[in-house]
Amino acid sequence: MDKLSSNTNLKIENQSVQQETVVTRQIKRIRDYQQISLYKDVNPLDWEDWHWQLKNRIRTKEELAEVIKLTPEEGEGLKKASGRLSLSITPYWAALMDPEDANCPFRRQAVPVAQEWIISPHEMVDPCAEDRDSPAPHLVHRYPDRVLLLATEHCAMYCRHCTRRRLVGEHQELKSASRFDQAIEYIKSNKKVRDVLISGGDPFILEDEEIESLIERIRSISHVELLRIGTRIPVSLPQRITEKLVLMLKKYSPLWVSIHFNHPKEISKRCKIACEMLADAGMPLGSQTVLLKGINDRPYIMKRLVHELIKIRVRPYYIYQCDPVRGTQHFRTPVATGINIVEKLRGYTSGYAVPTYVIDGPGGGGKIPIGPNYILSQAKGKYVLRNYKGKIYTYLE
Ligand SMILES: *Cc1c(COP(=O)(O)O)cnc(C)c1O
Ligand code: SF4
Repeated sequence: MDKLSSNTNLKIENQSVQQETVVTRQIKRIRDYQQISLYKDVNPLDWEDWHWQLKNRIRTKEELAEVIKLTPEEGEGLKKASGRLSLSITPYWAALMDPEDANCPFRRQAVPVAQEWIISPHEMVDPCAEDRDSPAPHLVHRYPDRVLLLATEHCAMYCRHCTRRRLVGEHQELKSASRFDQAIEYIKSNKKVRDVLISGGDPFILEDEEIESLIERIRSISHVELLRIGTRIPVSLPQRITEKLVLMLKKYSPLWVSIHFNHPKEISKRCKIACEMLADAGMPLGSQTVLLKGINDRPYIMKRLVHELIKIRVRPYYIYQCDPVRGTQHFRTPVATGINIVEKLRGYTSGYAVPTYVIDGPGGGGKIPIGPNYILSQAKGKYVLRNYKGKIYTYLE
């Protein structure tokens, strides 16, 4: 049996080598931004300026057609509007898109397609029932000791698989700091809250002063031990991670940062610099990945991703099953796909590189860890276990 499984492994490895050459070929097709007609006259200083990047985001089909050759599905997808989730692609991200290949992960995640308007019966507007567990505006309190604060409904780029698509998008947003008064009061009066996760939208899209004023207010609450920021900006707009931002954040240690990464190609040279700046300033970094069909649902892609993350000091934290949010059926994989990915990682690579695969319990159950089953049977004082290779061991208590 061992021989058989090692043969299968060999086959899988050969297959991976072939697939990796495909990935390498695609990487070679990534253009220098000045090769793209839309950006040919942009000077590098502007390109590095995050405000310039935000101001020049792609918002129309016409602009997008100057960067990539649109397919009929994309053309159809761009015709309609999907709730609040607008089309918005940073020039940085746009330059990473493959002009020819619609399966390119940068394209699939940012460009709407016709399937987005196919709503399957079990899909929901708010699958994690966050609105129900909201004791104050912009706040979600689900677990005993930690809360989620939604600092903004804007992002640099809108991901087509977004779970919070009911909220996020390019609508007007009140900017006054007083919008968080009730949320802060709630945290103050709940001594059990020792961990505040600032997310959104993307908190790093706010100006430094707005971020600092929010962090300051939360930090001044004595029972809050841990502050975390959830962001995708190091991936979608790495220029935003400036020296000034990092110096400001450094003052509020311990501050953990969770970054939404989905594909190894997202770890570009520029993204690496942004993550290094955060890590050098003492912020522990973690990743959050959404399992997406045709993007990262192969074990060899996920393995590459976690290895690249470890190299830039980002600890793989969660892989999420894609939530049943309306219009995301084309992104969703079977649960077995996720379990198989963890099966292929655990034991075969550094434990630090193995994230926890979770399903957010639909209707508000919170994150539920799902993974390969290593307990084969259990009786009084006796556990029958299997290891990563399928070998069986008995543990006596
Ligand atoms: C994910 C999440 C948290 C944080 O959960 P951890 O497992 O501690 O990372 C907190 N509140 C809500 C509502 C969440 O969805
Ligand atoms: S960055 Fe996060 S909140 Fe914003 S669109 Fe993407 S998944 Fe949604």
